[in-house]
Amino acid sequence: MELIEKLGDWVNESKNIVVFTGAGVSAESGIPTYRGNDGLWEKYDPEKYANINYFYQDPSYYWNFFKEVRSPVLQKAKPNIAHKSIAKLESLGKLKSVITQNIDGLHKEAGSKNILELHGNTRMFSCIKCKTEYRMDQVNKLLEKHLPPECSKCNSLIRPQVVFFGENLNPIILSRAEKDLSQCDLFIAAGSSLVVQPAASLPLIAKNNGARLAIINIDPTPLDSIADLVINISVSEVFLKIVQGIKS
Ligand code: NAD
Ligand code: ZN
Repeated sequence: MELIEKLGDWVNESKNIVVFTGAGVSAESGIPTYRGNDGLWEKYDPEKYANINYFYQDPSYYWNFFKEVRSPVLQKAKPNIAHKSIAKLESLGKLKSVITQNIDGLHKEAGSKNILELHGNTRMFSCIKCKTEYRMDQVNKLLEKHLPPECSKCNSLIRPQVVFFGENLNPIILSRAEKDLSQCDLFIAAGSSLVVQPAASLPLIAKNNGARLAIINIDPTPLDSIADLVINISVSEVFLKIVQGIKS
């Protein structure tokens, strides 16, 4: 409890907070983390459904995974207290941005405005040839006719607007993230194992720029030793108390 109070004090003292979120923030919305052990997700191998070379080799693998697992989970998932509290911090003028590795779109649904989705968004799609964009409901309709779904304008393959393994991050989003980090006074990493790039380096950039570094994660992370504060409690519990303690 003392730790949450300390973070609450820092939030009250800060004006340019950057919150960085990982899969743990959406776990309480029913979306399994990478290392989640839900049976259906285990039927599909992330080395295949999240890999760009495999996507082009056998697009039906991704699209079967999407139809059977991802789409039903996304349609049920609602923003939880953590997403809503982060949006509240922004509306109170405390937050510079939320930088996320998540692709579920739940920060937007919770009302956050300045969101940098490093890995894209799995609710948006585009034709690989003519670039026509599709929403999830439109793609689900196309999937009823054909799997993999085909572009209604040119019949080419449709892909999700996510960054697959084997693809580069969008440099515009990365440079916006770096700009926000150069101005941030408190960096809160929440629900991320902080092992993959750029998750492993963003907290370091912020800290080198003079920001305080707080990590909220159930399990230990490799960056705990350099953090100013580590809280091993669920993100929703911590953020709820932080928002309740904001002084106007
Ligand atoms: P990760 O799965 O590697 O780590 C999640 C961390 O969250 C774990 O260390 C776990 O201890 C912690 N955690 C779980 N529930 C928590 C809770 N309620 N409160 C606090 N901590 C909690 O996730 P990552 O670091 O984000 O990396 C996963 C990769 O997979 C990313 O590239 C991401 O794009 C992708 N991914 C995204 C989603 C999503 O969009 N929701 C879900 C799964 C994976
Ligand atoms: Zn097309």
